[in-house]
Amino acid sequence: EQLSIKTSTHDYPVVIDQGLRFKLKSFINKDYPSVYIMTDSNVAPLYLDDVYNTLKDQFHVTYSIIPAGEESKSSRVYFDLMTQLIEAGVDRDGLIIALGGGMIGDLAGFVAATYLRGVDFIQMPTTILAHDSSVGGKVAINHPLGKNLIGAFYPPVAVIYDVETLQTIPFREIRSGYAEIAKHSMIHTPPFWDQIKSVTLDESLSETTLIRDLIHGINVKANIVEMDEREANIRQFLNFGHTLGHAIESELGYGKMTHGEAVAIGMLFAMELSEQHFSVSLPVDAFYDWMKRNNYPLNLPRLSVNRLMERMKRDKKTKNATIKMVLLKALGEPILVDMEDVSLRQQLESFLEKMV
Ligand code: NAD
Ligand code: ZN
Repeated sequence: EQLSIKTSTHDYPVVIDQGLRFKLKSFINKDYPSVYIMTDSNVAPLYLDDVYNTLKDQFHVTYSIIPAGEESKSSRVYFDLMTQLIEAGVDRDGLIIALGGGMIGDLAGFVAATYLRGVDFIQMPTTILAHDSSVGGKVAINHPLGKNLIGAFYPPVAVIYDVETLQTIPFREIRSGYAEIAKHSMIHTPPFWDQIKSVTLDESLSETTLIRDLIHGINVKANIVEMDEREANIRQFLNFGHTLGHAIESELGYGKMTHGEAVAIGMLFAMELSEQHFSVSLPVDAFYDWMKRNNYPLNLPRLSVNRLMERMKRDKKTKNATIKMVLLKALGEPILVDMEDVSLRQQLESFLEKMV
C-alpha cells in the first residue's frame, strides 16, 4: 500500500508493507554521500542489522543507538547527536533515517530539521503509535517544563512502514497505538469506529486487520494535515482526548501509563462532555467496553482536580486562560469548544469519581 502526502514544500510517499526494511534501497532515489541511522536500544538489536546491511553496499552508513524511553527526547541527547553527525562528517547532502517509534521519529526528525539548517530524513516507524507521529511533519524534543516544546514542522522525504517490525512490540504499546487509531476513527467522516470496536487486541489480532486500521488511521491524519499543515484550525481536532490525556500523563509521571492509555481516558471524558454539551448520544458505553475488553487502565489513583485543571490550562490550545477542548457533535464531527471553568471542573470531578 502506498499513499502520498502533500506538504507546502514537497510530496512524500508513505509506504506500508511487510519486509520493507530489506527493500529500503528502492525508496532512496538520491545518491546520498552519507546515511546516518538513529535508533533506540530496544529496536537496535532487532532491526538495525537488517537496515544497515540493506544499505551498506551502496552508501556510507553510520548509526547511533540511543537509550530507549521518552527521557532521550532531551536537549542533551539532541546535542550529542549533533556532535556525532559533525564527527562522522555528514554534510548537507546527507540523509538521516529514524528507525523506531515516536520517540526516535521526533528526536531524529528534529535533529534532521536543524542540523546544517536541515538535511533529508526518512521515517521508519516501528510502533503502532508511530502511524500517527511519523505522518504530519511535526518533530520535537522535550523541555523539562513541558513535552514537545522545542520543535519544528519538518516533513520527511518518505515514510517506510515495515509492519513486520510490529510483531515484537509489547502489548501495552499495542494498546497505546490503538488508542490513537480509535481517535482517528472517531473524528473522521465517515467514522470508522464500527470497524475498530470489534477489534480485540490479543493474539487473535491479524496482520490484515492491523494493516487495514493503520492505513485508515494514516489516511485520516494525512487528510487533516494536508488541509492544515501548521495547525491553524482543523489540525487541532487531532487533539481529541489529549487535553485531559496529557494532563493525566504528566500528573502521573511519564512511564506510569502509556500515552495512548492516557489519551483513551481523555477520549472517554471528552465523549461524556460532548453528550452533555450537545445533548447527543455517542458510543460512550461501547468505547468503555472496548477499553475494558482490551485491558486499558480504567482506574486512576486519586488525582488532584486543581492540578489537572492547571495542567489543562497549559495545553497549547488554551487562549486567554480558557481551556479549549475537542468535542464531538456526532461521530465524525469534531468541534473545538471553549470550556467554562466551573462546569468543566464539576464534570471532571464526577468523572474522576467513577474512575477510582
Ligand atoms: P517509543 O518510541 O518510546 O516506543 C515505545 C517503546 O517500544 C520503546 O520502549 C521502544 O524502544 C519500543 N519499541 C519500538 N519499536 C519496537 C519494536 N518494533 N519492537 C519492540 N520494541 C519496540 O514511543 P511511541 O509510543 O512509539 O511514541 C511516543 C512518542 O511519539 C512521544 O514522544 C510522543 O510525543 C510522540 N508523538 C509525536 C507525534 C507527532 O506528531 N510528532 C504524535 C504523537 C506522538
Ligand atoms: Zn497522541
